[in-house]
Amino acid sequence: MTPLLSHHVGGQPLADDTARRGEIFDPASGRVVRQVPLADAATVDAVVGVARDAFVGWRESTLAQRTRVLFAFRELVAARRDELAALIVEEHGKVHDDAVGEVQRGLEVVEFACGIPQLLKGGYSENVSTGVDSYSLRQPLGVVAGITPFNFPAMVPMWMFPVAIACGNTFVLKPSEKDPSVAVALAELWARAGLPDGVFNVLHGDREAVDALLTHPGVAAVSFVGSTPIARHVFTTATQHGKRVQALGGAKNHMVVLPDADIDLAADAAVSAAYGSAGERCMAISAVVAVGDVADRLVPAIAKRMEGLRVGPGTDPDAEMGPLVTREHRDRVASYVATGTEEGAEVVVDGRGLTVPGAEDGFWLGPCLLDHVRPEMTVYRDEIFGPVLSVVRVDDHGAAIDLVNANPYGNGTAVFTDSGTQARRFQHEIEVGMVGINVPIPVPMAYYSFGGWKDSLFGDTHVHGAEGVHFYTRGKVVTARWPVQDTRTSLHFPTSD
Ligand code: NAD
Repeated sequence: MTPLLSHHVGGQPLADDTARRGEIFDPASGRVVRQVPLADAATVDAVVGVARDAFVGWRESTLAQRTRVLFAFRELVAARRDELAALIVEEHGKVHDDAVGEVQRGLEVVEFACGIPQLLKGGYSENVSTGVDSYSLRQPLGVVAGITPFNFPAMVPMWMFPVAIACGNTFVLKPSEKDPSVAVALAELWARAGLPDGVFNVLHGDREAVDALLTHPGVAAVSFVGSTPIARHVFTTATQHGKRVQALGGAKNHMVVLPDADIDLAADAAVSAAYGSAGERCMAISAVVAVGDVADRLVPAIAKRMEGLRVGPGTDPDAEMGPLVTREHRDRVASYVATGTEEGAEVVVDGRGLTVPGAEDGFWLGPCLLDHVRPEMTVYRDEIFGPVLSVVRVDDHGAAIDLVNANPYGNGTAVFTDSGTQARRFQHEIEVGMVGINVPIPVPMAYYSFGGWKDSLFGDTHVHGAEGVHFYTRGKVVTARWPVQDTRTSLHFPTSD
């Protein structure tokens, strides 16, 4: 019998045996390892009710109580980093070191949230009028929903819930149904850290559960990360239902290489950023924009490094790249190599047909490199989300900037150059939310905020950092007088006299 996961609600497992079910695969073996219940609207309603009840007490918790729980959670996650990573490897497929890195980046947001007493400090102005003071507060919203993608099953939820909970909200996480087990493990650690029951809940499901959350009157705000069409749907639906929404979408990240760049540095960076986690990173580089004559030196240098890449199960300590998440996704990504050829791109390295001895049924695709890709080609226009790197050749720096700015996505980008002047021009003119200078995957630290522009983000605020605290709280300004003199009625508009 394949085990069936439970939701985690009110501090304990909640079985949902009669729900529709999804299958969770180990992508390296191709086998089903677990089943996941797919909640219906009635279950969503019950879980939101638990979170609403918990909000009554949690919003009254002191900042010291919250930070004590956050510090305890931080210690538990740090101590179990390897176990959490093993769950990610099993259901996502990425290699173990990469999974540990993902837990670490999530942990950094917990560490940031441990500073919540400082982050929630308001302002105070004495004597805004005679005997009158004004001060500002930020207060929690209520129940916040997090809806997250398969590619970072620990880190992306951890962009959200440490900050939301630190701010005094309660949280319902709807993780990806492809790899939801690590979310349940995190819920168990919250309970052990002393978080009151119902403050953090994990609800499994697919579209039906998401739509029930987006329209539920008890949900105050929605944080979403996933593909652009779903991000747009989440933003439109949830805002129509009066919720505060941040919806991070897909990406097509360009790495611009100028003729003066260090070719070894750029080639190493391109290979790491294109094929790490099998290209299933929202900040993966999927298009190298080679400026001037640099392509003739860069493409062979990239191809040479690809020869040595070892693809295998994430449990193999020597593997550098794992399988793709599902068979369907692997087939879709592989089909782009054929489409690229038909549309006139040159296949420099073809990873189709890769087999991994002993794991023949895994969802494998070796790294692929396409040169002479043009902007009108499908391989350039679509987000492929796999180990397929395209090289687009342009004449000069201005043409590279125009290409990146014309792209509907604006998540991450990078420029490789030895010139400070050129780098400064790029950072100033580029219409993208996260920019790297000789850094291919410029993921901001937890104390900065993460987010893209254009079709990579719907909503105003990025996640974590100061913008995360802002998103999960609302402002209140108090104007106070403690009368020592006689008061009198006045119909004048209040002024500062
Ligand atoms: P996805 O959009 O398919 O799924 C994301 C979430 O939405 C999941 O929880 C899923 O259950 C839910 N969902 C799926 N279809 C839905 C529907 N029709 N209605 C309502 N909910 C639905 O994304 P994915 O395949 O899990 O993840 C990969 C995508 O996420 C890529 O496009 C990647 O670029 C993007 N991503 C973006 C960022 C970022 O920071 N911008 C970070 C990570 C991933």
